Amino acid sequence: MRGIKTDPYGRTSVKGIYAAGDNAAGPSQLVIAASQGSKAAIGVISDFVEEAF
Ligand SMILES: Cc1cc2nc3c(=O)[nH]c(=O)nc-3n(C[C@H](O)[C@H](O)[C@H](O)COP(=O)(O)OP(=O)(O)OC[C@H]3O[C@@H](n4cnc5c(N)ncnc54)[C@H](O)[C@@H]3O)c2cc1C
Repeated sequence: MRGIKTDPYGRTSVKGIYAAGDNAAGPSQLVIAASQGSKAAIGVISDFVEEAF
């Protein structure tokens, strides 16, 4: 089962909106949610850095 579609860094089709964990992977495990949250954080930071420079 799959939830909100994202790229590997949690980016959804809407700029500035990210998803991770059960709402992106579907019902899963804590470790998957934590891993996706961490990757989404990288996506957020890199998008901010790109906007800033
Ligand atoms: C009964 C059960 C047992 C499980 N046992 C295990 C296990 O043994 N080991 C394991 O690894 N995984 C287990 N899981 C799975 C694990 O709980 C989830 O994969 C994990 O919690 C997903 O994390 P998440 O941050 O994506 O979502 P969640 O932990 O569900 O966090 C989502 C948060 O968003 C909040 N929220 C919802 N709507 C809104 C809103 N509109 N505004 C603001 N906040 C909102 C919710 O209150 C919640 O705090 C179990 C799941 C269930 C249901």
